Amino acid sequence: MIEANYKYAREMARKILKQHKILDIPTNLQVICEKLGLEYVELDDSNELDGAVLELDGTRVAMLNKAKPFVRARFTLAHELGHIFLNHDKREFYDAEAARDYGEDLPENQKPAKEKEADAFASELLIPMEQLKKFQGDLKSPDKLAGFFQVSKPAMAIAIANFFSTSKTFR
Ligand SMILES: [Zn+2]
Repeated sequence: MIEANYKYAREMARKILKQHKILDIPTNLQVICEKLGLEYVELDDSNELDGAVLELDGTRVAMLNKAKPFVRARFTLAHELGHIFLNHDKREFYDAEAARDYGEDLPENQKPAKEKEADAFASELLIPMEQLKKFQGDLKSPDKLAGFFQVSKPAMAIAIANFFSTSKTFR
């Protein structure tokens, strides 16, 4: 199995935030999509996906489904953007999304590398480590932080764990 390149995935997310001067949290996905040249639409249909990036007549359209839990839809859309900006093969990621729906409960170590990379990209885009640093006093309150960053509690818990393991490396 190919190893996921988390470092590259995170760097790409940081690069996009920096390049487009997106310095505030919660990360505004609509602004990011528009700056990246994607059309942004919101859907309100509980039968549809949480979020997606589609190609219609050569135009990339980013969709966020308001009928789904907001934090989940945000993560899904950020994950899809990850596939695009990490240059994952198109067919591969469209196919993988179906797999992702079924394989959602797959343990982390059984997810394909590209899925893990897209998750790392989404995590850094929505919870930039530089921003998380400013909330060091709140790291024991993941619920509160999840609210600030508009992410799910599990997504925040992962980011906090990652923050601690990363800062250990630099100690
Ligand atoms: Zn995916």
